[in-house]
Amino acid sequence: MKILAIGRNYVEHIKELNNTVPEEPVIFLMPETALIRRNQPFFYPDFSKEIHYEVELVLKISKLGKNIDEKFAHRYYDEIGVGIDFTARDLQNELKKKGLPWEKAKGFDGAAPLGKFLSKESFSDVHQISFSLEKNGVVVQQGNSNQMIHSFEAIIAHVSKFFTLKIGDLIFTGTPASVGPVVIGDDLIAKIEGQELLKVQVR
Ligand code: ZN
Repeated sequence: MKILAIGRNYVEHIKELNNTVPEEPVIFLMPETALIRRNQPFFYPDFSKEIHYEVELVLKISKLGKNIDEKFAHRYYDEIGVGIDFTARDLQNELKKKGLPWEKAKGFDGAAPLGKFLSKESFSDVHQISFSLEKNGVVVQQGNSNQMIHSFEAIIAHVSKFFTLKIGDLIFTGTPASVGPVVIGDDLIAKIEGQELLKVQVR
C-alpha cells in the first residue's frame, strides 16, 4: 500500500506559504509508517520545533489502474475520508531552500493520522464536500472540495501516469488555507460535513 499526497491544491493555502500556483498537481509520497489509525495519539518528534497541521480529504483507491482517463477516474475510488498531513515546517523550509525533496518533513512516523472513511455514495456531490479541523474546540481550518485546483478525478488521472494505483492506496488531496502549529497537549478533531471522523491528541 502506498500513500500519495498532493501539495498546493488550494489557492488560499498557496498564498499563505508564498508559493506559486502549479500548472500540474505537486505530488509527494509518504511511507505506510506515517499513518496513525484508530485515533491513536501523535507524538511530537524531537527533530522539529514547528509541526503544522494540514487537514485534507483522503481518497481510498478501490481498483487497480494505470494511465487512467479523467472521465473514468470516478470508478477508481469508492471511499472518502479525512486525514491530517502533519508537516515539520521548519525542516520543509530548509529542504525547499536547498531544492531538496520533502520526505523527512512530510513522511516521518505518525505524520499522517487517518480518520474513518465514508462511502462515496453517501455524498450527493463529491465536488461539494465541506470539511474542517478543530484545535482544542476551536475551528482552525475549513475547506470544501469545490475549492480544489485539481479535482479528485484530475488528481487520479495525473498520478496514475507515473504510479500504478492499487486497491487500498490512499491519496491525500491537499489542504485549504489556515495551516498552523500544534503543541503538546493539543486536541485535534477533523470533520466531514460536520461529522466527527478523526480525533488526535498531540503528546
Ligand atoms: Zn498537505
